[in-house]
Amino acid sequence: MGMEKELDTISLEEQLAGFEALGRIGRKVTSSLDLDHVLTAVVDAAVELTGAEEGSILLLDQASGEIYMHAARNFQEDFVRTFRIPIEDTLPGEILRTGIPVLINEELPQKIKTAYFVQTLMYVPMIVQDQPIGVLGVDNRTNGKPFSTHQLRLVSALADFAAIAVENARLYARVEAEQKKLTTLISKVKDGIIVLDQDMRLLLINQSARQAFGLDDADLTKKPIEDIFQNNELLELLSQDKPTTPFRSEVSLLDGRVLNAQITPIPEIGLAVTLQDITQLKELDQMKNDFVSMVSHDLRSPLTAILGYVALIERVGPVTDDQKRFIHLVDTSVQNVTTLIDELLDLGRIEAGLDDRREPVQFEALIHHTVESLGHRIEKKSQTIELDIQPDLPQVFGNPIRLRQMLSNLLGNAIKYSPEGDQIKLSAGTENGQVILQISDNGIGIPLAEVTDIFNKFYRASNVPEGIPGTGLGLAIVKSIIENHGGRIWVDSTPGQGAVFSVVLPDIG
Ligand code: ADP
Repeated sequence: MGMEKELDTISLEEQLAGFEALGRIGRKVTSSLDLDHVLTAVVDAAVELTGAEEGSILLLDQASGEIYMHAARNFQEDFVRTFRIPIEDTLPGEILRTGIPVLINEELPQKIKTAYFVQTLMYVPMIVQDQPIGVLGVDNRTNGKPFSTHQLRLVSALADFAAIAVENARLYARVEAEQKKLTTLISKVKDGIIVLDQDMRLLLINQSARQAFGLDDADLTKKPIEDIFQNNELLELLSQDKPTTPFRSEVSLLDGRVLNAQITPIPEIGLAVTLQDITQLKELDQMKNDFVSMVSHDLRSPLTAILGYVALIERVGPVTDDQKRFIHLVDTSVQNVTTLIDELLDLGRIEAGLDDRREPVQFEALIHHTVESLGHRIEKKSQTIELDIQPDLPQVFGNPIRLRQMLSNLLGNAIKYSPEGDQIKLSAGTENGQVILQISDNGIGIPLAEVTDIFNKFYRASNVPEGIPGTGLGLAIVKSIIENHGGRIWVDSTPGQGAVFSVVLPDIG
């Protein structure tokens, strides 16, 4: 009895401060075992603070809609285990519905609607986001000691802690279930998935990626990528300066497979890499290339024969003007097909890497030769060409025939896609140990959406006027040549006003 008096002399704030420890435990609830522990502690505290004979926490079972006893003090174990009451027509049910606490201080024992007999009782709701989820109760069956409103406030504060604990446990269980689902999903996906943090340490890797890089099931979380992967192509890709936009590349595996790696920066996390097996596509591509080279090769010889015989017709006898016209048409058409085949064969050779001749090349001399060889085409369109070549332009290490082909294609396009009388500019200089070449014209330019497509095979931009001949292979050849030489090419263009093609090649001083 003294207990109640003593408690009443301690201020509410002091007593609440004492509960803080409980609150802290409540926030750390991460399993059902933790929850049992916290709720038992809350019931114990409620019984101690009120000097009650019994205490319990009643929760709503979402599945059955019944109320059960989750934690108890001084109730028989069997009673606790089997305690199940409906929401309707019961006092705890009413509190769950209304969220209003109940205090009963009667002289005579009362049967609390289908539960048990008590003399005095206090039930307070456990509320989460305005929603009652359970009831914290204390009662006296025999001594009939009344509960004060002060005690009601204390028990309400305890009920709040208990509510937080239950909510935490539920949230944690939900997060854990979601995480489990996600992990199962990621592990079952056929594509490889790797996620790295901002320090290039592993956050996640799925089974498919492990299998691709020969990794066992060991826990690799937080390990630096260099300690995990031995594939140089992958390491090189990942060690690029922090990318800000997604990009893709190919990674070859030891077993001969080729993967398409899509690298996506994820703000505040790091990088995600998805890996798709494209071995079959690569094989198909190779088959297509082989087929094209074979067919081109077999077509080349009969076409040369046709051209030869067409040239002979006029020499072996008189032909009419109409016949002459037809002969000229045959000649031009066959020439066009021959050019196409030559370009296809060239591209096949360059792409197959059969083109590995390398020697120091005087780039400046190469420019002059190319411009000379295109002189008649420039004159024909009354165009001029302005050369701006840095004195002592360094040499380039490469294949002179291919480098000249590259220059000739770019200059040829500038001539072809710009108007009569236009001035074409060619500048060459150095920057950071690289040779920079720029070819600009004031012609039709390239629609912005197509500036990357024009380097694809057979692509001709949508603004090319009818009648301008071309195969759409020239720039694909140019790009392959430049990339084989360790360089890069890109284009800047204002549609209708011209185009500037820029090429960067490594120099050899
Ligand atoms: P083509 O045989 O059609 O000239 P290319 O591969 O050399 O093929 O070029 C591809 C396309 O790029 C061209 O069809 C044209 O649309 C565009 N292109 C190339 N060079 C220029 C340029 N200097 N000005 C405008 N468009 C160009």
